[in-house]
Amino acid sequence: MSERGLFIVVEGIDGCGKSTQAMMLASWIFSEFKGVDSVTLTHEPTNSKFGKNIYARLQNKSSDESQTAKERMLELYVLDREQHVDTLIAPILAKKGLVICDRYKYSTIAYQSAQGVPMQHTIDENVGFPVPDVTLVFNINPETCVARMEKAGKNLDKFEKIAFLEKVKEQYLRLPTLLPNEKIQIINANQSIEQIHADVAKAVKPLLDAFVK
Ligand code: ADP
Repeated sequence: MSERGLFIVVEGIDGCGKSTQAMMLASWIFSEFKGVDSVTLTHEPTNSKFGKNIYARLQNKSSDESQTAKERMLELYVLDREQHVDTLIAPILAKKGLVICDRYKYSTIAYQSAQGVPMQHTIDENVGFPVPDVTLVFNINPETCVARMEKAGKNLDKFEKIAFLEKVKEQYLRLPTLLPNEKIQIINANQSIEQIHADVAKAVKPLLDAFVK
């Protein structure tokens, strides 16, 4: 068994298939790796008081677009993450457990910088959090995601949403270069659910082999 446990993060723009793949990954781990007896599947923002504040602000259509409001949002994501790490992620990793997290600091870096907060500032605000053993960034055409969200009945301004997700996607794609010491892998998410899962399984298998050894 490894020193710390295993920490896997899934990332990408809204509707890219993160939660679908996180669930498939958890069940694949149980079926393939008999030595693993628990997997914690978690997500951000959490349901902490900070997370609830974030969800409320995201739902507010007449939201404040000022730089102060953007900075406050960044601060809330970091506070929510601090609590998530302290109360759930770090204790599980310390007990050599396995955590799969749907969105983490990379979401804050990509989204908040796409909204105009300097990218280096978003990176600096997230220093000190546990670095995942691997982060899988699902790279997908934003039009596909927006079509999925519309199909699911979500009310959105289509063109505004596509343009914004395009910016977020670009920021995500910069992460492997900006954070060369963190293992960030881009996965082609413009594929079937099964093909993406096969790519995910291939990406994490060496880590799991080492983890259960
Ligand atoms: P996210 O967690 O990234 O927001 P979800 O996993 O909830 O995305 O997927 C959004 C929607 O797209 C769901 O209805 C899901 O069933 C569907 N979906 C996910 N992956 C694919 C795929 N590869 N092809 C087609 N539909 C998909």
